[in-house]
Amino acid sequence: MNKAREIIDAYQGPKLRIMEVCGTHTHEIFRLGIRSLLPENIEVISGPGCPVCVTPVDFIDEAIYLAQEHHCTITTFGDLVRVPGTQASLAQARADGAQVKVVYSPLDSVDYAQKHPDEEVVFLSIGFETTTPADLLTIAKAQALGLTNFSLLTANKTMPGAYEAMKDSCDAFLYPGHVHTIIGTGICEKMKEEGVSGVIAGFTAKELLTAIALIVKKSQEAAPYFVNAYPRVVTDEGSPKGQAIIAKYTESVDAMWRGIGVIPGSGLALKDDYAAFDARKKYQVPAMHGHANPACRCGEILRGQIKPYECPLFGKVCTRDHPVGACMVSSEGTCAAYYLYGGQK
Ligand code: SF4
Repeated sequence: MNKAREIIDAYQGPKLRIMEVCGTHTHEIFRLGIRSLLPENIEVISGPGCPVCVTPVDFIDEAIYLAQEHHCTITTFGDLVRVPGTQASLAQARADGAQVKVVYSPLDSVDYAQKHPDEEVVFLSIGFETTTPADLLTIAKAQALGLTNFSLLTANKTMPGAYEAMKDSCDAFLYPGHVHTIIGTGICEKMKEEGVSGVIAGFTAKELLTAIALIVKKSQEAAPYFVNAYPRVVTDEGSPKGQAIIAKYTESVDAMWRGIGVIPGSGLALKDDYAAFDARKKYQVPAMHGHANPACRCGEILRGQIKPYECPLFGKVCTRDHPVGACMVSSEGTCAAYYLYGGQK
């Protein structure tokens, strides 16, 4: 770790912008105080790696529609409950009588559906390659149990499209170790061939500092680079099992990312074979045309263009207790990290 610190401290080159594309990295880098250790000419910016943050407002509106119009029971992880939709959050909808249950694992939703056969249960499935396989395995469990009262409302996304969309926003990516555990390193090699540099990082202080030091060192060489600095977990081929689950149940679709827009091929929709488990098809959910609070600047934050403290609402109107935007709601959100750990650049 000392060697990594020496490399970082000795950096005299031009401003180096490193984008961490992972909500867990965002929080670990803050929690460990790594930002405050970096010299002025090394900047870590947060990218679109918080699944709750990039989930569009329409998705919340769809969930509320299902709860209110079809009287579905919505099951979800806690963060999504407080994300504002166009008119309300799921928490507000629940206060108005909607059935919204917080679960701690996707399979809890299937258990709930089994125990409540008189309810129509819809699980909100969001996230990246890391968590998507576990969400999809709920379908296998529901099929095995013969359940017809369980479905998924999906907004799952894949990372490679985000790398393409964000590649001009930074000098190098700090690639998310969790995601590459599933998808392997092929996309990083491909990005290198396109001239985009990056290092896959783990999550401990030593792993993060080592990855940043590698970026600093390699950036002083002329060629684009890629290094897997998390080899104890990430292999070149990734997880064939995880990839097979995703390929079995889903197909690629264009996806809307909050603050970024539509990224071609970056979403996962359930295949027609599983239409009975697709809440959008099962309940013929109409197209939503929602919009976020116009004062919220999550979009610019997710593109690495501004820091949360540059949003006029940060820490005043928008706090952890009263979040205005998804980036403050989510435990992986950038605004939440600045709010919780403050005082770092
Ligand atoms: Fe949105 Fe709040 Fe972040 Fe401002 S501080 S960008 S309002 S989440």
